[in-house]
Amino acid sequence: MDPDLTARLKSEALRLGFDQVGIAPAVSPPSYPHYLDWLQAGHAAGMGYLERQAEARAHPDRLLEGVRSVVVASFVYGRPESEPAGPTQGKVARYARAADYHEVFWRRLESLLDWLKVEEPAVRGRAVTDTAPLLERDFARRAGLGWVGKNTMLINRRLGSFTLLGALLLDVELNYDPPHESSHCGTCTRCLDACPTDAFTGPYQLDARRCISYWTIEHKGPIPDDVAGQLDGWVFGCDICQDVCPWNRKASAGREPALDPGEEWAHPNLVEWLAEDPATFSKAIKGTALARSKRSGLLRNAASVLGASGEASAVPALAGLLDDPDPVIRSSVARALGQIGSDEAIQALESHLNDQDPLAHDAIQRALIVSGSGQADSTTPECEERPQGL
Ligand code: SF4
Ligand code: SF4
Repeated sequence: MDPDLTARLKSEALRLGFDQVGIAPAVSPPSYPHYLDWLQAGHAAGMGYLERQAEARAHPDRLLEGVRSVVVASFVYGRPESEPAGPTQGKVARYARAADYHEVFWRRLESLLDWLKVEEPAVRGRAVTDTAPLLERDFARRAGLGWVGKNTMLINRRLGSFTLLGALLLDVELNYDPPHESSHCGTCTRCLDACPTDAFTGPYQLDARRCISYWTIEHKGPIPDDVAGQLDGWVFGCDICQDVCPWNRKASAGREPALDPGEEWAHPNLVEWLAEDPATFSKAIKGTALARSKRSGLLRNAASVLGASGEASAVPALAGLLDDPDPVIRSSVARALGQIGSDEAIQALESHLNDQDPLAHDAIQRALIVSGSGQADSTTPECEERPQGL
């Protein structure tokens, strides 16, 4: 094996556009026991796939037999935060304001692997983005890319924490980077203090059951009333615990054009989202990270944000969705109309009391009660789904 292979591989990774690259030995990740404790505590909320894939995260050899090295690469993404212009604009996490990064990452890692196969045809490898069960942050720290901050994100002194991680698993031994052993959080607790939903049970401990990112992206089905009121304007993800981090103040800007944020996604007009024809909306989000939540989740989130804002100008668009085929959307807009409580909102709710779906019917009834105009009727269909709240 060429003794310079490590250096040439790293240089090719940087040439391909990655902002940082490091190499760790393929061992069982040191944080694996903590990960199991986190799952055991129920902090993964409804992300059952994390439980199902827990064993696979025990060692990267579950992903590539004979793996010896984990090459971890990162991209910086996004631009500094700007505030929405008004209550009908939502907030979208920075990473989701451009093309789906998985695709971008995947192609770049595959290019790196293709290069390596030309250099060393006997090497076997596998590109891994966060779609495969690998504790990437742990390997990134082990590969010297940064430390895991109290907000649970990987932080690099130069690049900050708005970085995407991916890895190349290789069955060849390389020169490993020294692990990043120190932490540079010091006595700072800004991220813990700024979280609007108290999702951190302590430093380095995030309970997804209280996290806006979980509810707006991962959770399927209706959002409980108490959660819906705390989304703080976010319709996809949440960046607060990274925005407040001092290490992001002077971090370098991203240089990958495909990850350049589109302004239309930074602060979408939520009333326009609600009024958009379903096929056009679904087509618009295709190929973006937002597609993960689909139209159902995004409009559910948008209605929740508008309802919490009490914005009366949103009523016609909300009322128009009381006939949507999706009961999750109907129940979400019903709650929002009840929160706004204008005459127009109440009228729209009353005219849909005959909704036959238990979830939507129940939401309409409760919305009328919240608005101060309704009373529970005796024809309530039984609602089976009662998700737990914060
Ligand atoms: Fe809290 Fe938002 Fe960070 Fe989740 S993403 S922990 S809600 S600040
Ligand atoms: Fe660490 Fe402070 Fe950044 Fe939180 S905000 S990750 S405590 S430096």
